[in-house]
Amino acid sequence: MKPIIITVDLEDWFQVENLRPCFPLTSWESCESRIEMNTYRLLELFDRYNVCATFFVLGWVAKRFRGLIREIVELGHEIASHGYSHCLCCEMQGPALRRDIHTSKALLEDITGQAVLGYRAPNFSITKELAEVLGDLNFAYDSSYNSFRLNRRHGKGEDLRQTPEGYLVMGNGIMELPVSNLRFAGRTIPWAGGGYFRFWPTTLFESGVARILRSEGRYVFYCHPWEVDPEQPRQTHGIGSVSRFRHYLNLDKTLERLRHFFVRFQDSGFVSCGTYLPITQPCKPCEGDIAQGLARV
Ligand SMILES: [Zn+2]
Repeated sequence: MKPIIITVDLEDWFQVENLRPCFPLTSWESCESRIEMNTYRLLELFDRYNVCATFFVLGWVAKRFRGLIREIVELGHEIASHGYSHCLCCEMQGPALRRDIHTSKALLEDITGQAVLGYRAPNFSITKELAEVLGDLNFAYDSSYNSFRLNRRHGKGEDLRQTPEGYLVMGNGIMELPVSNLRFAGRTIPWAGGGYFRFWPTTLFESGVARILRSEGRYVFYCHPWEVDPEQPRQTHGIGSVSRFRHYLNLDKTLERLRHFFVRFQDSGFVSCGTYLPITQPCKPCEGDIAQGLARV
């Protein structure tokens, strides 16, 4: 069986990089949160189509919606870390990067009572420094690499290498599960989800997924709760037209497209990263004082 790995970056509509010029971290507390309603929309859909997913949770969200995180676990999904404040890895110096990731991991472990094994960088902003931080904090895998190079926020993944078994690992051996893109005529076409899932026509997108499954034996997909919310507040000024297009495109069609996608590929099976990856290293909760970390982010 060629599995489809489903991932959700759990963040609210105002925490997205495209809207950052209008909604800096200091403004988040005053924004209308819609994350519970939108996450339940996804959870209901996942339940109906037997989808087991990995939720890469933003620490800021976890701190305010502890019950939601527990409910996701009770429904059988995996909880992983998306950092705390949605700063790009390349924008944080060593200690700040470490603090951001550590705080989110410790918080999620406190809420779920389980070791958090995986991390995804905001906007796939993987850096060389990231491997060392993830190693020190007892992560088992990373899913921050996106091979589409034309998005300048994406990291380059220079120190990734292939194992003889065909898996990708970071410089220090931490497993890397990249999101999937399509190779066509010598080019890499973004095909992993997010805005691209909303951009391509459904049948074309699904044909691309089938092609990736045939050539790579797996497909790694990502989406966000705010992508199933056409009624979210609209930001009409302060962001560029490209960012606006990326964020608001076809939001009213996402749920139906997801339904279609799950029906089309139901024979593949939809699994979480932790279920798919052959994780053998012992996974321990990270150490340190959560309260101290939270006070500093
Ligand atoms: Zn994100």
